[in-house]
Amino acid sequence: MLDKLPSLSETVRQYGLGANKRLGQHFLLDMNITDKIARLALPLEDCHVAEIGPGPGGLTRSLLKSGAAVVTVIEMDERFLPALKDIADVSDNRLSIIKGDALKVDIGTQLGTERPIKIAANLPYNVGTKMLINWLTADPLFWQQAVLMFQKEVAFRIVAGPGDPNYGRLAVLSQSVCECRLAFEVPASCFSPPPKVDSAVVVLDPLPADQRFPNLKRLGEITQAAFGQRRKMLRKSLKPVATKYGLSLEDWLGECGIEPTQRPEALEVEAFQKLCSSIPQAPA
Ligand code: SAM
Repeated sequence: MLDKLPSLSETVRQYGLGANKRLGQHFLLDMNITDKIARLALPLEDCHVAEIGPGPGGLTRSLLKSGAAVVTVIEMDERFLPALKDIADVSDNRLSIIKGDALKVDIGTQLGTERPIKIAANLPYNVGTKMLINWLTADPLFWQQAVLMFQKEVAFRIVAGPGDPNYGRLAVLSQSVCECRLAFEVPASCFSPPPKVDSAVVVLDPLPADQRFPNLKRLGEITQAAFGQRRKMLRKSLKPVATKYGLSLEDWLGECGIEPTQRPEALEVEAFQKLCSSIPQAPA
């Protein structure tokens, strides 16, 4: 039945769906690419997929074609609702549509616990990182996998390791919760309208619960201080954190086996976690 839908380009024309830059709208109208993204999330037969920002519905169609048991899309721009409804009408009740701001929707509660949840999205550039941080810090972690398209630089910052210039706060936070891998890059020319930068798809698989680092808030604080002055040695950049928590900087770093002269990009993710865990308690 999905094959009976008009092409995405026709849908865009039919409903006059011009891109609104304020909402980060750059559409993927080439179903070869949306199919490739959906394949990364396989198997989907048993899963409930949350798709953020479906726009005219290219990835939505691919997720349904790939056999997702249920897809719930969350779209802020009501202009897309008729095109999404057309897909819902031929989806055997497998598509539900939420009109709203995905930053405010409690996805875990909305989708329930009946099926494993996967998140798939070609994310709006302006809020993509914020959404990822929300999902990484969700308690409980309600999702089983996320397949997400970001601006290429952001994708690199999620998967980077020590020594890589892209390694920083986002890598440490993401890799403290998930195994993260870069799947493929998508040139700007594949989007309509083309953005100024290229994109890339990242796959995030949550680590087993007992291996996920629990205190992302404090880990964020430490990595922010360390990478906020990434050329500085840790004895300088982490001084304010030590002061805030009433620690001797030398003792704190020493306890974690870290040289005060090291720079943040040399530290493994586990070293940042250790710095975080060795802070005894929150300040009064
Ligand atoms: N998935 C479509 C595609 O690949 O062609 C559209 C992707 S476009 C980069 C981002 C989409 O996210 C747009 O449809 C936009 O309206 C929507 N969007 C932007 N901010 C949003 C938010 N906070 N909550 C839900 N959707 C949002």
